[in-house]
Amino acid sequence: MKSFIQGAKEIEDYLVEIRRHLHRHPELESDLPKTTKYVKEKLTEIGCKPEEICKSGIVATIGGNKPGKTILLRADMDALPMQEESGLEYTSQHLGIAHTCGHDIHTSFLIGAAKLLKEREGEIEGTIKLMFQPGEESLTGALDMIKSGILESPKVDCAVGMHVQPLLPLNHLNYAKGPFLASTDILRITIQGRSCHASQPHMGIDPINIAAHIILSLQSLQSKLVPSNEPVVLNICEVKSGNTSNVVPEQAILTGTLRTFNPQLRKEIIEQCDKIIKLTSQAFGATSKLEILESCPSAINDKKLVDEIKEYIPNLGIDFVSDPNYRMQVSDDFGFISELVPSILFIIGCKPDGIESSHNHNSKVIYNEEVLQMGAALFAQCAFDYLKNNK
Ligand SMILES: [Zn+2]
Ligand SMILES: [Zn+2]
Repeated sequence: MKSFIQGAKEIEDYLVEIRRHLHRHPELESDLPKTTKYVKEKLTEIGCKPEEICKSGIVATIGGNKPGKTILLRADMDALPMQEESGLEYTSQHLGIAHTCGHDIHTSFLIGAAKLLKEREGEIEGTIKLMFQPGEESLTGALDMIKSGILESPKVDCAVGMHVQPLLPLNHLNYAKGPFLASTDILRITIQGRSCHASQPHMGIDPINIAAHIILSLQSLQSKLVPSNEPVVLNICEVKSGNTSNVVPEQAILTGTLRTFNPQLRKEIIEQCDKIIKLTSQAFGATSKLEILESCPSAINDKKLVDEIKEYIPNLGIDFVSDPNYRMQVSDDFGFISELVPSILFIIGCKPDGIESSHNHNSKVIYNEEVLQMGAALFAQCAFDYLKNNK
């Protein structure tokens, strides 16, 4: 019996071809007509019956002939609205859109895993559900698929996701227990003042002055309320108000981001922000509101599942290096899945040899394509072994 990694090595050219096709034709958010058509064609060729359960959200299953549990394998398919400057011969052919977060690689991992698992379908005890989601960057795709029933019929018992990291060398694989990636909340603060002539500020209510007080108070909230061992980022990144030098404006709008690893602390910080914003505005006679425009929970790696999957990884025959303390301040909407079912998210290294590369979301980022066989085999191995051991 050939191993999953042997199988993945044999289909390396196939994986590279898929990845480069996706890389040349990136699409955005949940509008992925070309990508989904291509993914469905590939899955159909393998013998799967893909189904689009929401806009640009594909599901397919493997196994299901023998009773057992259901494991979900998830890949995201969307790109970013930026110009690629990698200089690669298979660079993006679409101006201002590029796969600079490696989701083309994740999609290829999962198609590869599907091909490997399909070859051993007769041995699968339970069901493997493949999830190809849109809109990860907009943090909407996983939720859309959850609302469309991706976790039901058959009910998903656990989920596995993967993200490439070009700053980490090949053979590095991280999956620390507990909160692994940060939660994100996009905050918008609107301060409603009263316009007046700049020479008579007492006749109006200056929202810029109030905005300045609020920004500084929010920064001290971070240093005075949050325990020093809790990694929290609270950043106001956009300030909009006024359009000339001699008029006190009506309104100021601030937007910013909050990132934490602790769900309870996240809730408390948002409550405190609301209090500071309301009371500071009130003190100066203005009204204000705090809105959470978008949010995504922390991606949490289930402790029991991590312990279990850790046992299966050596079966791959790759000598992976893992850091049990590795965490990232970035978010992934896989967090919505990890809130509902025991989950594990892997961060897999793919630093290219001898080429200057960069981090995800950088226009010059280059990924080592050797990771394709590793990711495909890792997905397949985890699913196969989990089902075999959880009859
Ligand atoms: Zn990204
Ligand atoms: Zn990403």
